[in-house]
Amino acid sequence: GKGAAMVTAVAYRLTDQARQIQETLAEFRLSKSQLLEVKKRMRVEIERGLKKESHKEATVKMLPTFVRSTPDGTENGDFLALDLGGTNFRVLLVKIRSGKRRTVEMHNKIYAIPIEVMQGTGEELFDHIVHCISDFLDYMGMKSARLPLGFTFSFPCHQTSLDAGILVTWTKGFKATDCEGEDVVELLRDAIKRKEEFELDVVAIVNDTVGTMMTCAYEEPTCEVGLIAGTGSNACYMEEVKNIEIVEGTEGRMCVNMEWGAFGDNGCLDDIRTKYDQAVDENSLNEGKQRYEKMCSGMYLGEIVRQILIDLTKRGFLFRGQISETLKTRGIFETKFLSQIESDRLALLQVRAILQQLGLDSTCDDSIIVKEVCGTVSRRAAQICGAGMAAVVDKIRENRGLDHLDITVGVDGTLYKLHPHFSRIFHQTVKELAPKCDVNFLLSEDGSGKGAALITAVGCRQRELEAQ
Ligand code: BGC
Ligand code: MG
Repeated sequence: GKGAAMVTAVAYRLTDQARQIQETLAEFRLSKSQLLEVKKRMRVEIERGLKKESHKEATVKMLPTFVRSTPDGTENGDFLALDLGGTNFRVLLVKIRSGKRRTVEMHNKIYAIPIEVMQGTGEELFDHIVHCISDFLDYMGMKSARLPLGFTFSFPCHQTSLDAGILVTWTKGFKATDCEGEDVVELLRDAIKRKEEFELDVVAIVNDTVGTMMTCAYEEPTCEVGLIAGTGSNACYMEEVKNIEIVEGTEGRMCVNMEWGAFGDNGCLDDIRTKYDQAVDENSLNEGKQRYEKMCSGMYLGEIVRQILIDLTKRGFLFRGQISETLKTRGIFETKFLSQIESDRLALLQVRAILQQLGLDSTCDDSIIVKEVCGTVSRRAAQICGAGMAAVVDKIRENRGLDHLDITVGVDGTLYKLHPHFSRIFHQTVKELAPKCDVNFLLSEDGSGKGAALITAVGCRQRELEAQ
């Protein structure tokens, strides 16, 4: 009768709705052949970045770092390190002792960088940084020491030496004026002079990937790759100098900061980018740039999720069709919330509680859908990040003419460390896409700070040698 027809109609609407949601998410589910294609394209862009004639137009910049070797254990001294560009800004004092019992002792303080400073003028940003250093030196009672300093600056920089780096472009949440195209080391030195309170010897500018690789290599000499899967995404590795055509010489190796976040900026990933990825890009501070990073790093995953949820809500599949103010707010789904929502230990009721905390009133069905959306977006992130890494380790294997490569990758970043599934899916993808490589992943403890100090130590030693 009528009742049965109504039940059938409701059931049909529900299955139709489920089907449409699955269709939406299907675009994010990449097949193995699609992932192999991502790996292949990454390899093409790597070559473009390395070759002299294509370097200028290349999207994956393959920037030389002037770090020519990993640590050998003889590094020694007291160093100051700065870490700018990740989740926190930190100033550190790092005491490295060589000899039979090698030790590294660290003291650090975290400072906030207000949004107005991140997106104000360059002078304000660097004055703020120097203000924090001043506070830290007071706190440590070391204002008169004139320490050597390593500056971990987690943005693309064109380096011509260890202590010179021209900012190519800001990424992530930074947009201070008058910095792009400038030597960041000079900007820091100028700000220290303006303050007239203390002197420092800026020895090295370091990308966070390089600091991470160096920190892990200090413990594990087979570590020749660095990865950050955090607010941003990037990798570095030891490349043959003869392959880095913009660097003179043919001997030995040098660490290359890939800046793989910009992969896809020439349109080469357009066939796997969804309309949600495009919306995230359009809403960002740097439209058209860092397209790969916007598909796989912590700063943007929540934004992709939010765009999907808005669309599903508009189509009446979620939140009773009501788009709340919260859902319209940029940046609500931070990595830590995504990680909580996707945690297997949480019951749906707890997922609802998290959504509630964020100001989203959900039904039980809503929470199931939200969790699936999060899982699908983060799985794709881990997979395409794994495809990129597979390209890197296979390149190293070929460089060395090996049928089989054993290698260690040093890793840091909030997404890798906090997310319940990212690292596992990432590892599995690398294994599947680079079967001729045995890749060991090592978590770096405080890579940016320690690594900057280690590189500074090597830099000081090189300077002494050159002076002789
Ligand atoms: C920057 C890289 C950095 C990465 C991870 C990206 O946005 O361009 O230089 O290594 O974020 O922090
Ligand atoms: Mg960091």
